[in-house]
Amino acid sequence: MLKRLAVLGQPISHSRSPAMHSAALAELGLAEEWTYEAIEVAPDEFAERARSMAGDGFVGANVTVPHKLAALAIADEASQAARAIGAANTLSFRGDGIAAENTDATGFLDALQQRPGGKRALVMGAGGSARAVVWALVSHGAEVAIWNRTPERARVLAVEFGAEVTDAGSDDVDYEVVVNATTVGMGASSGEPAELQSLPLDADALGGNHVVVDLAYGANETELAHVARARGARVVDGLEVLVRQGAASLRIWTGLDPPVETMRRAARGRLDSGSD
Ligand code: NDP
Repeated sequence: MLKRLAVLGQPISHSRSPAMHSAALAELGLAEEWTYEAIEVAPDEFAERARSMAGDGFVGANVTVPHKLAALAIADEASQAARAIGAANTLSFRGDGIAAENTDATGFLDALQQRPGGKRALVMGAGGSARAVVWALVSHGAEVAIWNRTPERARVLAVEFGAEVTDAGSDDVDYEVVVNATTVGMGASSGEPAELQSLPLDADALGGNHVVVDLAYGANETELAHVARARGARVVDGLEVLVRQGAASLRIWTGLDPPVETMRRAARGRLDSGSD
């Protein structure tokens, strides 16, 4: 019987996940048995739709904006990471119910490609993806400071996860890892107004000692990624994080080592939207 996979979101038509996962399934020799599709689901339909998927032959689903909280809420069991983060992006439909995982956190750590333990990290943003990033960094021993446009949200997150709050500014050179988890830069394309003025970073202070992770991505490199790279920082862009979270999901569903390079090529093949 065909094993179906999907990504659920709204909007979803520009998601790169179907191309990325379909390429991976083909590379693994599973293209005849497994499929991956994008399904647009409105918030008020999400719970019912997700619960009916097992009956329609689905074995798993990625979940993206705006359903990640609801995905955790409907699950029968959830990983420690998903519970701590308060959101799930990966569902598995099993005989005994729905299992929830959050691979945004592991995807971020895999993309970082270095142990964050003992490092000072600045996370900009306090929304859903910032929760996964802050949890991942703190639980692996980094010292994390959070900046957010609305400072109260940074305070709430910092208390919950054991991080600090910062207004960043001139002391941002102290951070070895800098993460943009805001929507600034999302859907970046040439001709966009300058993004960096919305963030607290002094771009001139970035250099070879910094790793800059920009979760946002679009048709073109984000201004943050561009400037950081030009200053000699190691840059991890949003597509790399997307690939790594997708690879972690695929490992959960198939139990196989995901072909990361194939997924990377497929994800970068279409660069016309900012949706994950
Ligand atoms: P949320 O809507 O949950 O959070 C948005 C965040 O952006 C908030 O902290 C918000 O601040 C901030 N923000 C919005 N507008 C501005 C602005 N003009 N200036 C400064 N800060 C601003 O979004 P998510 O956390 O789900 O997503 C954030 C980004 O990460 C998006 O670009 C998304 O595409 C990307 N992403 C990428 C993934 C990947 O795999 N590469 C995975 C998940 C997300 P405030 O609290 O003040 O409103």
